Amino acid sequence: MKEIIAIMLIHNILNLFFPKICGACSRPVINPKDELCLKCEIHLIYESHPNTRKIQKALRGRVKVEKVAFFIDFTKKEGIQQILHSIKYQNQKKLALFLAEQLAIKLGDGFFQGINSIIPVPLHPKRLKIRGFNQSNLIAKGLQNIRSIPIDSNSLQRVEFTESQTNKNRLERWDNVNTAFEVINNEALKGKHILLVDDVFTTGATLEACIKTIQNKVDCKCSVITLVKA
Ligand SMILES: [Zn+2]
Repeated sequence: MKEIIAIMLIHNILNLFFPKICGACSRPVINPKDELCLKCEIHLIYESHPNTRKIQKALRGRVKVEKVAFFIDFTKKEGIQQILHSIKYQNQKKLALFLAEQLAIKLGDGFFQGINSIIPVPLHPKRLKIRGFNQSNLIAKGLQNIRSIPIDSNSLQRVEFTESQTNKNRLERWDNVNTAFEVINNEALKGKHILLVDDVFTTGATLEACIKTIQNKVDCKCSVITLVKA
């Protein structure tokens, strides 16, 4: 009992001096279980509504997609850049799960009807080793927590170690990724409806490359979800 009280005391003292901070604005959060402060949670979650049209428009004429959605518009919401950075480089697992779960809830069951598996956009094994985790996997897990759809992290692989897409224009981004992916298990995708998941949609080059690679090899339907649209 004494030990438990001592641990709780240490925990409270640590929280006093090193409070848990909001994943979007770096201000301390009141409840250490929360990933965002109340202001950011209202601004970024409760006042955001999944958009199912903009990405569809951006991919028109490039690839055939069934359904598309993103949660938060980069141009309209403050704090998103820090959220993406927290998820991508600081392994803020709970924050990624929380956002993806909220997106799955807001989208409703209808969006996920008919989808057989979720495929997180894969990282090259070398990049995975450097970073230690794949942020798209975390988003896929958050969606799975709410909608119970299996995650397939094996059938699509990244076979080229590409440079970062940051600071590249649309054409350079496409050149950088268009041969980066490979389907290694046709049977797992054949005749299925798969949901590709990524953290951010910028020009769509990465998702376009994934979908083209898949559809050139296998007859299947593809849908897309990203947390953010830049
Ligand atoms: Zn905040």
